Amino acid sequence: MLEKREFYINGEWVASQGGKDHHVIDPSTEEPCAVITLGTEADANAAVAAAKAAFPGWMSTPVEERIALIEKLIQVYESKGEEMAQAISVEMGAPIDMARTQQVGAGVYHLKNFVKAAKDFQFIKPLGDHAPNDRIIHEAVGVATLITPWNWPMNQVTLKVGAAAVAGCTMILKPSEESPLDAMLFAEMMDEAGFPKGVFNLVNGDGVGVGTVLTGHPDVDMVSFTGSSRAGRLISKNAAETLKRVHLELGGKGANIVFDDADEKAVKRGVLHMMNNTGQSCNAPSRMLVQRGIYDKAVEEAQAVAESVTVGPASAEGRHIGPVVNELQWNKIQDLIQKGIDEGARLIAGGTGRPEGFNKGFYVRPTVFADVNNDMTIAREEIFGPVLSMIPFDTEEEAVQIANDTVYGLTNYVQTQDGGRANRVSQQLRSGMVELNGQSRGAGAPFGGMKQSGNGREGGVWGIEDFLEVKSVSGWA
Ligand code: NAD
Repeated sequence: MLEKREFYINGEWVASQGGKDHHVIDPSTEEPCAVITLGTEADANAAVAAAKAAFPGWMSTPVEERIALIEKLIQVYESKGEEMAQAISVEMGAPIDMARTQQVGAGVYHLKNFVKAAKDFQFIKPLGDHAPNDRIIHEAVGVATLITPWNWPMNQVTLKVGAAAVAGCTMILKPSEESPLDAMLFAEMMDEAGFPKGVFNLVNGDGVGVGTVLTGHPDVDMVSFTGSSRAGRLISKNAAETLKRVHLELGGKGANIVFDDADEKAVKRGVLHMMNNTGQSCNAPSRMLVQRGIYDKAVEEAQAVAESVTVGPASAEGRHIGPVVNELQWNKIQDLIQKGIDEGARLIAGGTGRPEGFNKGFYVRPTVFADVNNDMTIAREEIFGPVLSMIPFDTEEEAVQIANDTVYGLTNYVQTQDGGRANRVSQQLRSGMVELNGQSRGAGAPFGGMKQSGNGREGGVWGIEDFLEVKSVSGWA
């Protein structure tokens, strides 16, 4: 078990002021893998005070210097990739190979995109020839609280910290209590990269405790939150008292529309995408809508693909899916699979209980339901596990209607060889992102949702702009 460490505030590792011990559980073994401290109001206040004191200096630091520090951070991060992968793998259960490539890789990717976007960004620009006396200054919002989930931990941390730092905000990061180890390692990297004292602070804690203090604090100007829609609602209410800017990246229930002219790999790709990270991705394509003419064949194929997905401990090398993050999630997923059965969906792969050969660890059987109706609970709720729902449809209009019939609007996917149809459907889907034929978003493309999936956009220039105020200056002295 790793040794207990505490918080990074004002450029130093400090002890908690009265916090309680919290065991971080390795989901592969159900054994504790580390002890951290859940902070108190006093800890959160100390971090906010440090960030507030550092803000004037950091916002007026030339952007070239801020970018140079991110470039140094990238070097440090790349040199510690293995340590980071091990931390992520043990605390949230990502198989080690996947942690090295996808989980750790996402962090470098985002930081590099911020450097590029910031170099191209005009922080001060003229309004235009029609208003020669006016210019626009983009300046940092202020002190930002950054709250992250456990499922893609370094992805979320770098998306927020990189953007806030480049923009000139100072910050307090509160990572998920399920995945604090990688965030603490990241704080060491920020220190090694040489960020000035107080620019970046880290306090561990739970949502009701430290989370509530940090999202309601009068000296915090902005909250950037990624997590569940449930917590997003609570945070919005809490932040409303001081009218903070609140940026939300929340849950999803993505549709993957497979038309009858889809390429031959579309179904397999969709099932494997759903199972990646053990289904614990906000943008998981959890509802596969299949056109009637190819539906039976697609169901057969999805069953075979799901049955070929192997499950194993996070420490094992190779391609498999790991456990889900904790017991609460395991129980929730079991209940939802049972609901799918009870409500009449046809179970074609997986089901309740642990996969064969496991009697410990939060392992879930890769599960596929066919003949799902979009009104069923499994089609409406974000399951956050390796569970796919297949829904037949007849026409393009019906596919769009089903896809949009959800409170979420994060990512939808379309598989068709017909360019006109791809364009029409992409325009009608109410989601922040649409991905066609297995192509993923390009470098620096904005990530974020509509409806109850949130209101912000992360990554590249959009991510930086979320941490900037727009100031209009008119006239000359
Ligand atoms: P969660 O909402 O339970 O917790 C997320 C973070 O919020 C944690 O750090 C937690 O301590 C904190 N928190 C919880 N309640 C809070 C409160 N009242 N005040 C302040 N902080 C609070 O979510 P989770 O289980 O960690 O993550 C899974 C969820 O995150 C899923 O719904 C998933 O879709 C979503 N997610 C969204 C995106 C996106 O970009 N849209 C990305 C990843 C995950």
